[in-house]
Amino acid sequence: MELGRRDLLLTAAALLAAPTIGRAQAAGDRKLGYAIVGLGYYGLNVILPQFANCEHSRVTALVSGDRAKALATAARYGVPERSIYSYETFDQIRDNPDVDVVYVILPNSMHAEYTIRAAKAGKHVMCEKPMAVSVAECEAMIAACKTAGRKLMIGYRCHFEPFNLEAMRLARSGAAGKVRYVVSEHGFVQRDPSKWRLKKALAGGGSLMDMGVYSLQAARYMTGEEPVAVTARESTDRSDPRFTEVEDMIAWTLNFPSGAIATCQSMYSANQNHVLLMGDRGRIELEPATRYDGNRLWTGRDGREQEVTAPPAGPGKTQFAGQLDHMAVSLRTGAEPIVSGEEGLRDLRIVEAIYRSARDGRTITL
Ligand code: NAD
Repeated sequence: MELGRRDLLLTAAALLAAPTIGRAQAAGDRKLGYAIVGLGYYGLNVILPQFANCEHSRVTALVSGDRAKALATAARYGVPERSIYSYETFDQIRDNPDVDVVYVILPNSMHAEYTIRAAKAGKHVMCEKPMAVSVAECEAMIAACKTAGRKLMIGYRCHFEPFNLEAMRLARSGAAGKVRYVVSEHGFVQRDPSKWRLKKALAGGGSLMDMGVYSLQAARYMTGEEPVAVTARESTDRSDPRFTEVEDMIAWTLNFPSGAIATCQSMYSANQNHVLLMGDRGRIELEPATRYDGNRLWTGRDGREQEVTAPPAGPGKTQFAGQLDHMAVSLRTGAEPIVSGEEGLRDLRIVEAIYRSARDGRTITL
């Protein structure tokens, strides 16, 4: 059933990618308005410039604790001053008809609060990964959006990234044969001990809550299966001032119903960005796999290696525009986003099991 559901999701993504459908839906409709909550690195430098690549989405409000930064950003993106909010005045966003979707780009432990406040203000929500820092928070977020009749989507941009989409399509089409294993590893060297990512209260955990989400997501979307068991080990130098509160490196294996095994890692002490799927006929490999750009894809079958240089275009001009517009199109059509709150919840259930397995030194059945 799960394989069937995932195939449907891929089909839905492919349909939304079709430019004719996008244009038909856009005809005569205004672009959907996003409020960006949090003008940090990702919100300011990555997401905001991407509205220029969107067909169905525009930025209409900003939420920031830094008024001067918000004013300068508003001037740059044509957001009126009346649509600038602080964290204290955020709930007034309910009275702003130009805001359809609130995009939460805050430290992880703030995702639940702002998602729930946005839903109560009658807005749809796009929330960054990880969806939240616990299963309980994810469930509360889903419940709040459901009660308010609003949609919830997680910022899983790789589901809109052309090389990742092509890798998923190839895996599903049997290009590598029967899947035997996946290796999925993501990390970067986190140098500054003062970063919120290294504070348990704000990040919820260490590398697993950050790059580990990419490793976990890729293991799930490459196999197209849900794991039935997880076994994890952690390696952290607690005398290192960066890692007094959260883990550095964590490695885990996932067992899938088909017999496939995923070996995953995340770390804050090495730069790695790699996904490999091995089947009984060949391989599908992404390296770098999940970067903002410059990702590369190879396939190998029956001894023939080949780089996939030009995969079919994704559902937007960039993965980010594809993600933003997907929410807009979902709202117009009434369809669930392909990466909904339930998808974020699935990951957090596994994340909690990974931590439990590493702590207790035993395999956790999911
Ligand atoms: P950042 O530190 O650059 O920005 C965080 C923002 O939150 C800042 O504007 C900061 O002022 C604000 N903030 C409000 N209250 C805060 C508090 N108590 N402590 C610290 N900051 C506070 O972080 P970022 O890299 O932009 O990450 C934000 C979120 O986006 C995270 O959940 C992260 O996982 C996610 N993210 C996703 C991607 C992706 O590729 N999908 C990439 C980067 C970050």
